[in-house]
Amino acid sequence: MNILVINCGSSSLKFQLIDMDNESVTAKGLCERIGMDGSRIVYTPGDKDKITIESPMPTHTEAIQVVLDCLTGAENGVIKDLSAIDAVGHRVVHGGEKFAESIVIDDAVIAAIEECNELAPLHNPANLIGINVCKKLMPGVPMVAVFDTAFHQTMPPKAYLYGLPLKAYKEYRVRRYGFHGTSHRFVSKHVAEYLGKKPEDLKTIVCHLGNGASICAVDHGKSVDTSMGFTPLAGLVMGTRSGDIDPAILEYYADKEDISLKQAIQVLNKESGLAGLTGGKSDCRDLEAGYHAGDEDCINAMEIFCYDVAKYVGAYAAALNGVDVIAFTAGIGENSGFVRSKVCEYLGYLGVQIDAEANSQRGDDMTISTPDSKVTVCVIPTNEELMIARDTKELVEA
Ligand code: AMP
Repeated sequence: MNILVINCGSSSLKFQLIDMDNESVTAKGLCERIGMDGSRIVYTPGDKDKITIESPMPTHTEAIQVVLDCLTGAENGVIKDLSAIDAVGHRVVHGGEKFAESIVIDDAVIAAIEECNELAPLHNPANLIGINVCKKLMPGVPMVAVFDTAFHQTMPPKAYLYGLPLKAYKEYRVRRYGFHGTSHRFVSKHVAEYLGKKPEDLKTIVCHLGNGASICAVDHGKSVDTSMGFTPLAGLVMGTRSGDIDPAILEYYADKEDISLKQAIQVLNKESGLAGLTGGKSDCRDLEAGYHAGDEDCINAMEIFCYDVAKYVGAYAAALNGVDVIAFTAGIGENSGFVRSKVCEYLGYLGVQIDAEANSQRGDDMTISTPDSKVTVCVIPTNEELMIARDTKELVEA
């Protein structure tokens, strides 16, 4: 069974064609600058080198058409025609409280996703465009929506309600939703398999540390708390997002800068976090280089980031009343032994002991704690696309 996984952003579109007979990626790629000058597709067919094709993409309709043309093209195509695509899995950022699981898309589901647009105005409308365009270009092909928020719908009220007037929740749907749910679900399941255990037997803390970063407390397979909130702006200091701040700062800063609250939120989303602390460096590799070169801003940024991660791990160890496994994932979590070791230095009180040699390795799934560490610490590469494809296959076959 061939499943096309689509992740539509506001001006970009990522895709993978996955052969579910062996869960291998047949082709993948990225359309960039949709709706702008210089739009292009970077396409990798099978094991071949990636190809960049400049092509006008005024809207997502042209972008998806270009993707389908690449997949079926005479020279670099990987399938004969569109009938080889058995189903499409769509990443959808926000499912509100309506969706606690992935679901086969029909008109009622599309309407329900539309109702969540105001909760994720930058993301959901783009996800919906992807769904509608695929419906038009591939009529009759079953489609599944996989939500970033769904995994966290098991959080109890004590974790998801804010200390605000209750009408904020009851009338305006203000609560903690959490994001990166597909990654947290994949990693918490996969780390259990890797350790030869069942997710239901473990208390796991997943640290998804990428340009966007969040931590999730997973109690016997279920998310019980997570660091992102009503939006992905909350929680850890991230590449360009502030993470948690005193909410009163917003008005104070907007007054000082003579900008609107909307503009101040933009500053919190795009100009803050590690980039804000260092005058523009958001990539962990640059920050590590700066740290070792003695750059004071880089040193502070890295210290703040690792301290933040350690504080959330401590909080979630308390929420879970103990922790069996800590799993690091995403760009920084998978690649930066430096960040992992700095975070784990704070966790000695939990009985965490890191094997420095194992932590310096790169690779697939790996354990970086010592055999006598009280908590098993692992590095697990995330794979959101595969999780989306697995859900799609399961629902379509059912
Ligand atoms: P993601 O959002 O998961 O794609 O992660 C992207 C981020 O991972 C980049 O911005 C870098 O900060 C980080 N990253 C990628 N490769 C490395 C590496 N080799 N060492 C440290 N950080 C890395």
